[in-house]
Amino acid sequence: MQNYVVGIDIGGTMVKGGLFTNDGILVQKLSAETRVHQGSDTVLKNLSTLVTSLQKYGGRVLSVGIGVAGVLDVKRETLLQSPNLPELDNFPLKRRLAEAWGIPVFVENDANAAALGEKWAGAGRNLDNFLLITLGTGIGGGFIVNGELWTGEAGKAGEVGHMVVVTDGVPCACGKYGCLEAHSSAEAVKRMAIEALQAGVCSSLKNLSGGDYAAIDAEMVYHAAKKGDAAATEIFKKASHYLAVAIANVNNLLDIHNFIIGGGMSNAFDLFAPFLQGEVKELVFTTARDKVTIVSSKLGNDAGIFGAGYLALKGLK
Ligand SMILES: [Zn+2]
Repeated sequence: MQNYVVGIDIGGTMVKGGLFTNDGILVQKLSAETRVHQGSDTVLKNLSTLVTSLQKYGGRVLSVGIGVAGVLDVKRETLLQSPNLPELDNFPLKRRLAEAWGIPVFVENDANAAALGEKWAGAGRNLDNFLLITLGTGIGGGFIVNGELWTGEAGKAGEVGHMVVVTDGVPCACGKYGCLEAHSSAEAVKRMAIEALQAGVCSSLKNLSGGDYAAIDAEMVYHAAKKGDAAATEIFKKASHYLAVAIANVNNLLDIHNFIIGGGMSNAFDLFAPFLQGEVKELVFTTARDKVTIVSSKLGNDAGIFGAGYLALKGLK
């Protein structure tokens, strides 16, 4: 009989799950709302419903892997702190889920899980060393070093979103100022667009938003830029500049050459990649100019469930 594993990606808004055969084929994907504001019991119930629903497409599930937005303890048992899932701070995720389901559960940070997913089945398949950067509402990162996930001494390696790229920059969700996340995320693109309009800059975004600036999002700015809007293009150039600073710093520090851009903003990769690649070449050592490679994620928003599925399979071996 075919056995299965489940990979789950827990985000602030949605939980996504994938059912994988025990030889790594994705059979079915499902998603549901996280409803974290209703408390940890509701989140656990939603996760259990997701696993049960996925199980209907296969058979016996042997283990579950979880990618979750936030900082985990070094043993990957407790979610210590999560800005997007504050109701789950200090929550013993691994134990509670393993008790509820009676099967092994393996937990990892969501960006780390996405890096594992890209290594297993995506753009990092043939790479031994790379940094995956998830560009979305926030910015996360996951390092693959010598073919394995590298989580650092206390388990929080790869937090590239909180690398300070502007010493007197704008406030970040983490409480500091000038982090990459505050200058290059989808939220930063939105903020820059609103600031430009408020400053009276001429842009099609004014009409596209119908005058309701709160309706502006990174996708709208992307479409405006693709149609030749100079202000929208400038915003993506700025966001790319700070991302280039971060990538060049990582390259100089760790001599990692390969970078994969994932997350929702990777949908705009065709627009910002030329700016990004050009700036990175200017910022790294001349010896690294032709070595640094930046590509878009292959798995997109599914990278997290693939990585979680990989964790579930690896944990059984
Ligand atoms: Zn920060």
